[in-house]
Amino acid sequence: MCTHDHHHDHNEVVDKYTRDMLSRRNMVQALAAGGAITVAGPALSGCKTNAETGAKQFLLVGDSQLSQMAASSWAEAKQKTPTSTDPRYLGRLKGIGSRIARGANKADETWDYAVFDTDTKNAFVLPGNRVGFYKGMMDFAETDDQIAAIMGHEVGHVTGKHAAERVSQQLGGQLAVAGGTILAGSQLSKKCRTTARTQSEYNNCMNKANRNTQLIGAALGMGFTVGVILPFSRKHESQSDLLGAKYMHKAGYDAYQSVKLWEKMAEKSTSRQPEFMSTHPDPSRRARDLHNYIKYQEKLGSQGWQSIAMPKNS
Ligand SMILES: [Zn+2]
Repeated sequence: MCTHDHHHDHNEVVDKYTRDMLSRRNMVQALAAGGAITVAGPALSGCKTNAETGAKQFLLVGDSQLSQMAASSWAEAKQKTPTSTDPRYLGRLKGIGSRIARGANKADETWDYAVFDTDTKNAFVLPGNRVGFYKGMMDFAETDDQIAAIMGHEVGHVTGKHAAERVSQQLGGQLAVAGGTILAGSQLSKKCRTTARTQSEYNNCMNKANRNTQLIGAALGMGFTVGVILPFSRKHESQSDLLGAKYMHKAGYDAYQSVKLWEKMAEKSTSRQPEFMSTHPDPSRRARDLHNYIKYQEKLGSQGWQSIAMPKNS
């Protein structure tokens, strides 16, 4: 299960990354400030079942390591794009965020929110509970319930441990591992300088180092710092959608408004396509899947809203 998914997702990430990002030096610079990712010991790593999604995933890294890696990228994003402190945006987003965090049993964790002051219709989440919304997305969603639908989706990426899975897939397949540590940026360059005995050994080492840095960046979805938000796999997007609806319900929002939101996305997709769609699957299909999921939870009555598992052929 883990091995198969690994290949599928891995290619998806790297292909997209290669197309969009590989030549961009900012990416490498952003990560040069990053550090090393220590690979979890055997007891902590490998194929595990995620309690929220019920799906098996291959994990080699922990949340705190990812959070460290993403910190500089988050700071850079806020530096490059103007952010809004307008309470009608940031205050509102924080309020919705804390309700959804409670719905996801994550209220005891620290969350960081930012509203980017552009018309872009998009939102993203970075490791370390960092949720970014563009003003355009909040305007498009319009109501608290529909903003909560997007917030729920982003929180679903967190509880689904999607970033950790994506990074682990990269580490498992591609990254050079040195003594149980995945080195990135300056640390790898330093290692190349101290270990290489010839110029060609040095060049080889540096090629690997740069590749590592790029792959880690791609895996974390750090491309957004240069204006591109890297997509999660379709499987991760679907999981996040259903988790988002579950958190909406638990937080007292109307989960059906997530269906409305995706229908609205689908309508607008022929004219001015929201940017959110370039990184996310077909909105009509998402609306339908969400509708089926919510109906099924209601049918389950008091047993409902406990998992995102659906009966076969639903
Ligand atoms: Zn998503």
